[in-house]
Parts: sequence; structure tokens; C-alpha cells
Amino acid sequence: MTSVTLKDIQAARGRIAGKIAPTPTLLSPSLSQRAGVPIYLKLESRQTTGAFKLRGASNAIASLAPEEKARGVVAASTGNHGRALSYAARLEGMRAVICMSKLVPENKLAEIRRLGAEIRIVGSSQDDAQVEVDRLVAEDGLVMVPPFDHAAVIAGQGTLGLEIVEAMPDVATVLVPLSGGGLAAGVAAAVKGLKPGAEIIGVSMHRGAAMKASLDAGKPVPVEELPTLADSLGGGIGIDNRFTFAMCRDLLDDAVLLSEEEIAAGIAHAYAEEREIVEGAGAVGIAALLAGKVRLAGPTVLILSGRNIDMKLHREIVCGAWRDGKERAA
Ligand SMILES: *Cc1c(COP(=O)(O)O)cnc(C)c1O
Repeated sequence: MTSVTLKDIQAARGRIAGKIAPTPTLLSPSLSQRAGVPIYLKLESRQTTGAFKLRGASNAIASLAPEEKARGVVAASTGNHGRALSYAARLEGMRAVICMSKLVPENKLAEIRRLGAEIRIVGSSQDDAQVEVDRLVAEDGLVMVPPFDHAAVIAGQGTLGLEIVEAMPDVATVLVPLSGGGLAAGVAAAVKGLKPGAEIIGVSMHRGAAMKASLDAGKPVPVEELPTLADSLGGGIGIDNRFTFAMCRDLLDDAVLLSEEEIAAGIAHAYAEEREIVEGAGAVGIAALLAGKVRLAGPTVLILSGRNIDMKLHREIVCGAWRDGKERAA
């Protein structure tokens, strides 16, 4: 069985302690009042590098053999995984190479460079960048750390689930942003390992929900990638998916989809009512609740998974000037 267990997640926690920030789980009075059950926010948006991905990247790096550490790590992600891997590698004094296409915007490139990674700009698509990753693995012996379909990455993300149950022992439901499913798989394995009766619900956007489409099809399927406010939830799950598809199929109780307007409402609520800056992917739990897309039976935790949003876009959303169709994710 290719799965990640509660024991793997508990081991990950010991490995990454001191390298990540334990984040707060806070009651939201405004959302609790609306929902009629206590609603708690797991503020992973306050994690170092701005998203939970530091947990998985740190565990993957800490799990490497000394000779692998000496060779360094490589990835093609320019988003939160790329940031996390760059930061975690630097903390260990390791080499990290992030490959990206020449279409990646300057601000993303600068952020990765600031976090200490080497940057390789190749070609004009994510596929071209991945070819360079494969070359660096084959020729230079770098170790590829993928963003979600990797046992140590999933176990690292699962540490967030351990913190949720400790903060909220009577948790009945957890709403998890869902893309490749590393977060959902890890959190579900942790929470259900400790509390088998708890429900885990994945939340994605209508525009390009690869895991939801795959769960519906009964196997990994490709989806068209579309611009969305929840840009960190874009991308496929991999046709030869090894871990996250089966884990999400076996452990998730439901997966719901949101419109762009609903996601914008989630970002605006987080700011106006909770005083939190979150990116689209981080707002989908709040958005699902505000849109009435989930039926909640008891104390519920929403994972605010990240905060790395373009601040000009954020301003437009919170002041009500954003309109769907105008915004185009990079
Ligand atoms: C990567 C990411 C997700 C989705 O995680 P998966 O493991 O790919 O499902 C959600 N929110 C944010 C902020 C992310 O960076």
C-alpha cells in the first residue's frame, strides 16, 4: 500500500520541530454565528514563507540521506512549494535549484532568489522547466522534491492535522483547500488517525479542479488549467499519481467546488471580519461556508492555507472593485 500513516506524520513532527512555526487555531465569532456551530480558523497563512508548504518541504529535506543533502534539491515550482523548498534548503545550508520558464513574472522570480535558491530559466512553459529538472537529477545528481505526490511531503503537511486535533479535541469537520491533495491527504490521515469519526471535506475552485475531476472519474485525469483567484490550487495531479489520489479517494468525505465570486467573498471576509490577509487558495474554506456549500454538524476547523496574494489584487477585492473576467492570474 502506498499510503502515509499517523505514525509517519508523528515522526515528521519530531523531524521538523523548530524548523516551522506552530500556527494558532482561533475561534471566529462571526463565522460561528453564521454557521450555528463553533468555527475555528487554523492560521497557516502565518506560517514562515506564507503557506503550509514549508512543513512538507522541511520534512522531505530532513528525511534525505547525508549524501543526498550534499547534492542538493531541485523543483519546478515557482509558487509556495518553490518558496518553501528554497527556504528549507537554505536553513540546512543546502543547494536548491528552482527551474522556471521565461514567462514567470519578475516578482515571483525575485522572491525565490531572495530566499536563497539558484534559478534556472528555461523555455516557455512549465513542461520545459520540468525537462531541466529531470536533466539536473540525471546529470548533476540533484534530488527532486515534488510539491504533493511524495510520502515525506504528505507526512509533513499532515503535522498540521496533529496541531488541529490538539487545539480542538472535539473537532467534527475540517475544511481543507484541495489541489494535488498533499495537504488533504496528510491532514485526513492525521485527523482520522486520531479521531476516526471526524469528517474531512476538500474545497477547490470550479476552474480546473483536477482532484475532484479525478475522484469523480475514479482515476487520475488531466484538466484544462484556467486562470483563477485560487492560483495555488491550479495544476494537475499527475496521470501516474502514486499517493494522493488513493488517499483522497479513501479518506475524504466530500469535495466541493466554488465560483470565482465565492472565492473573492472569502478573501474579503477574511480581511474585513477576521483581519487576516489570505490568498485565494487560503480563503476557500471561508468561501465554502459563506456560500452554504457545506453542511456542518459540529465544531469545524477551516484551514487558511496561505497568504501569498498580489497585494494590488487583494486591495481590489477587499474594496469591492474586483470583477471576475478582469483578473487574470499570471
Ligand atoms: C499548495 C497549496 C494548496 C493545495 O495543496 P495540495 O497539497 O496541492 O492539495 C492550498 N493552499 C495553498 C496556499 C497552497 O500553496
